[in-house]
Amino acid sequence: MKQSNPDNTRAEVLRQNIAAVRQGIAEAAERAGRQPDTIRLMAVTKTVSPQDVNTAIGEGITLLGENRVQEFLSKREEYLSPHEVHFIGHLQTNKVRQIVGEVAMIQSVDSVHLAEEISRVSQKKGVITPILLEVNIGRQETKGGILTEHLPSLLERVSALPALRTEGLMAIPPQENAAYYFAKMQELFIDISSKKVDNVYMSTLSMGMSQDYKEAIQYGSTLVRIGTGLFGGRK
Ligand SMILES: *Cc1c(COP(=O)(O)O)cnc(C)c1O
Repeated sequence: MKQSNPDNTRAEVLRQNIAAVRQGIAEAAERAGRQPDTIRLMAVTKTVSPQDVNTAIGEGITLLGENRVQEFLSKREEYLSPHEVHFIGHLQTNKVRQIVGEVAMIQSVDSVHLAEEISRVSQKKGVITPILLEVNIGRQETKGGILTEHLPSLLERVSALPALRTEGLMAIPPQENAAYYFAKMQELFIDISSKKVDNVYMSTLSMGMSQDYKEAIQYGSTLVRIGTGLFGGRK
């Protein structure tokens, strides 16, 4: 008699989730008149077991998003190759040393102070760190990200820092009226691109999560960050 192996069942569920999200990206891209391959799919791995992360890597998802420094450092040895990690969580300046050189990008830079520390540590380690500037587009007091009125001075500062390369913007808009905030992010992204600031390359617009990635794609997202839509609910 055939026994069902719970690990295979779990992997099968993840494969179906991955296929469904890829399909969703393709459909949203088509509606927006965009090529699906201009949108990167990131698997957000907070609370997810390394085994499940590896199932995703096995299915060709090579971009991982990590929120927590300790969790990332304790799990990463178990991750299969190839994969690329972006840090997407709130980053305290005293943890910058543990992250610089260990991830391909830091998406959550939201202050001059943090940018300066990342550049200082990067210079010390002899690396250039690609970053995104996180914008608090919904002006939510409890959330990370810089307010739009402070963005010009942050841009001016990161432009001058030697060991950073600014590659775009990131946002986590409020769930209510997400489309309105995605549109505002797209405007900002286009506006900054047109200014041609030294050392600032607007190539990545990171926005859209499980609940709203299709709308984000409508407004120009180039990188969607999906957790529950791939791995199911978090504990
Ligand atoms: C958790 C998280 C996500 C993914 O959220 P889901 O709703 O589970 O898809 C995306 N971006 C950031 C910054 C997150 O912290």
